[in-house]
Amino acid sequence: MVGEADWSKLIPKPTSRFLLVSCDECNNKQIVFEHAKTVVRCKVCNSILAKPRGGKAQIIGKVLDVYE
Ligand SMILES: [Zn+2]
Repeated sequence: MVGEADWSKLIPKPTSRFLLVSCDECNNKQIVFEHAKTVVRCKVCNSILAKPRGGKAQIIGKVLDVYE
């Protein structure tokens, strides 16, 4: 009998996800690629939401949700 915890180990995790990030400046919510290769700016106020960091991006705003 294989429990749920064991099944989650067998299913390969996606390598990249999308994050719903809330802008610190204007509270605009925007989807940001977790492994963004370029600086991601808020579409409303142009604040930086994420910076590339070699691998996972550094998220500047608040992560509200994760889409896998
Ligand atoms: Zn903003």
